[in-house]
Amino acid sequence: MAIADAQVDAAGRLENVRAGIARAARTARRDASGVTLVAVSKTFGAGDILPLLEAGQRVFGENRVAEAAAKWPALVERYPEVELHLVGQLQSNKAADAVRLFQVIHSVDRPSLIEALAKAGCTARCFLQVNIGEEPQKGGCGIADVGRLLEQARAAGLDMRGLMAVPPAGVEPAPYFALLAKLGTELGLPELSMGMSGDYETAVMLGATCVRVGSALFGERG
Ligand SMILES: *Cc1c(COP(=O)(O)O)cnc(C)c1O
Repeated sequence: MAIADAQVDAAGRLENVRAGIARAARTARRDASGVTLVAVSKTFGAGDILPLLEAGQRVFGENRVAEAAAKWPALVERYPEVELHLVGQLQSNKAADAVRLFQVIHSVDRPSLIEALAKAGCTARCFLQVNIGEEPQKGGCGIADVGRLLEQARAAGLDMRGLMAVPPAGVEPAPYFALLAKLGTELGLPELSMGMSGDYETAVMLGATCVRVGSALFGERG
């Protein structure tokens, strides 16, 4: 595809997603400026990311530290205002690399990782990831552990801003978004990272302050 076409496509998709966020915010009587769009660029290279940067998007998400380290430093040099969010599971031995690259970490979910991030001098804004559907194979802490982990993370000096979750696939996500919002309210946490390409409007209606959108902006992943 010619560069000019890629530019129009990226700008058009970005406009669509922003319009969807605005529509959902209006329905919920919320201000759309309270919702951050995180463009999840995992598996996509600079050729796909640049058109979005040129269209004005500055907040991006990745799910692997090594992949982000390979492609983002050169892009950040050109666009220094870029803010990078880690949305995928983080191994404790990658904590120091993550802290160097990312301004926001969405996947804090266990005591060993809290310790590793604190030891790495983490100043990133952090979300506690909750396994909201209690699925055995998924990242995130159990619902019963949220309060204790939040306390531990704060005691370790992490800047805890909110809760993050990925609801179970293939079922209506709204009840899970509502449950995450309820937990956040109970804990006095202002931010909620929830909603992806298929359900970000629902998430915004239920209080998301961060939506993590990949394929609706970049197209299907190969
Ligand atoms: C890939 C990913 C997304 C984006 O998913 P899409 O369905 O492509 O929008 C959001 N959150 C996390 C944690 C992801 O890994």
